[in-house]
Amino acid sequence: MPDNDREEKGFRLLDCNEASKHHFERAANKLKLKREFRDWLRNPFREIYVHLPVMMDDGSLKMFEGFRVQHNNARGPYKGGTRYHPEVTLGDIRGLASWMTWKTALLGLPFGGAKGGVNCDAKNMSAAELERVTRKYTQAISADIGPYQDVPAPDVNTNENVMAWIMDEYSKLRGYSPAVVTGKPIDLGGSPGRIDATGRGVAYIVQQWALDNNIEMEKSGAVIQGFGNVGFHAAYHLDRLGCKVTAVSDTGGCIFKQEGLDVEAVYEHKEKTGSVKDFPGAETIDSEQIFSMDCDFLIPAALENAITKDNLGQIKTKAIFEAANGPTCPLVEPGLADKGITVVPDILTNSGGVVVSYFEWVQNLQQFTWSEDQVDSELQTKMKNAYRKVIDKAKEEKVNLRIAAYMIALEKVASAAKTRGVY
Ligand code: NAD
Repeated sequence: MPDNDREEKGFRLLDCNEASKHHFERAANKLKLKREFRDWLRNPFREIYVHLPVMMDDGSLKMFEGFRVQHNNARGPYKGGTRYHPEVTLGDIRGLASWMTWKTALLGLPFGGAKGGVNCDAKNMSAAELERVTRKYTQAISADIGPYQDVPAPDVNTNENVMAWIMDEYSKLRGYSPAVVTGKPIDLGGSPGRIDATGRGVAYIVQQWALDNNIEMEKSGAVIQGFGNVGFHAAYHLDRLGCKVTAVSDTGGCIFKQEGLDVEAVYEHKEKTGSVKDFPGAETIDSEQIFSMDCDFLIPAALENAITKDNLGQIKTKAIFEAANGPTCPLVEPGLADKGITVVPDILTNSGGVVVSYFEWVQNLQQFTWSEDQVDSELQTKMKNAYRKVIDKAKEEKVNLRIAAYMIALEKVASAAKTRGVY
C-alpha cells in the first residue's frame, strides 16, 4: 500500500479490519517482511460465528449473532475483550482481534490476540436478558476458550457481571476455572485495580508524553470523548495527576467547563441521569463539538472512527491519545501530522487493561492475590517501558509512533511464529 493516502485513496472511513491491515502493511514494509509471511501474520487463525436463540423477558424468542475471532497465538493463549453492540460485525471483531495480538506483543505479555462480540443492544436489555445472552454465548464458544486457550475480558457494554456469568457458565461445563476470563468481580478472583486499569494506563502515557514535551501536568488541560469505563477512569486519573479535564462527552451530549470539571461529581450525575449532559455548573453542547475544544491532550475513549475528515479541520490539540481502539481514521493521519499533532496509538495508550488482565490471570493461576499497590507499580513499569521503546524506535527508524509500535509488535510475533515453525 502506498504511503501517501491522500493522493491514492481519497478520504473514506475504514472499518477496524481495514484500519488494522493499513497499519500492518506500513510496518511490514519497513520491516521488509515477505508477502507469504505477511499473509500468515495478518489473517486470523480461527473465526467462530454462532447463532444464539434467547428468551426475552416478554416471552418472545430472539436470535442473536455471536463472534469470537482468534487471530494469533504464537506468543501464548489468545486474549481479548467481548463487545456487546447492536451494530458489531465479524469484520470489526477481526480487526479488533488483530489489534490484541499487536498490543500483547508490544507490552511483552505472554498472550496472543482475540476478540469476541454479540450483536445485542445491551443498553436496552434487562440484566436477566443479558445474563441469558451471555450464558448462551459462553456455551456456544466453550470448546474454544479456556485458561490456556483463549481468555476473554470486558469491552464496550460488557462489565464484571458479564465476566462473572462467563466464568460461572464455563465452570459448570468444564470445572472451576476463574482464569478462563479476566475483569471479574474481586470476590470471584478479579484483580485489585482491573476496573480502572485502562483509564489509569491512559493517564500514565499522557504523563510520560507531557514530561518528554516539557508540559507541566498542573498547567495542562484534557478533553475526553466517551465517559464509560475507559473515559471516566482516564479523566479520574488525569485529574489525580494534576491535569484539568475541561470537557467530556457521551452519546447524550458534551459538557464543558474552562476551570476544570469535578470528575467524580460528573460520574455521579451520569449514574443518576444516564448522561453527562446538563451537569450543573458546566455548559452542555452537542457531542460532536468535543473535537473543536482547545486542549493539550485530546482523548477519544468511545468507539472507532471518531476522528475523521469531518472534524480534522477543527481539532486544536498538541496530541491525541487513542484510549479507544481505532478512533482515528487512518486516512486523516497525514492531515494531523501536517498540523503538528502527535498521535499516540491505541495499542500503546489503552494497553493498561490487558496488562492488569494479565496480572489477574497470573493471580488466578497462582491462587494468590496481589495488593492494589503492587498492581499499580507493575502496571506503571510495564507501560513506561513500552512507551520508551516506542519513542526510541520512532526516532531510530524515523517513523511515527504508530508505525514504531507496530514494528516492535510485528517483530516479536514474527520471531515467535518463525521459531515455533509451521510444520
Ligand atoms: P463503555 O461502553 O464503558 O463506554 C463507551 C462510552 O462511549 C460511553 O460513555 C458512550 O456513551 C460513549 N460514546 C459512544 N459513542 C459516542 C459518541 N459518538 N460520542 C460521544 N460518546 C460516545 O466502553 P469502554 O469499555 O469504556 O470502551 C471504550 C473504548 O475503549 C472502546 O474502543 C474499547 O474497545 C476500548 N478499550 C476498552 C478497554 C476496557 O478495559 N474496557 C480496554 C482497551 C480498549
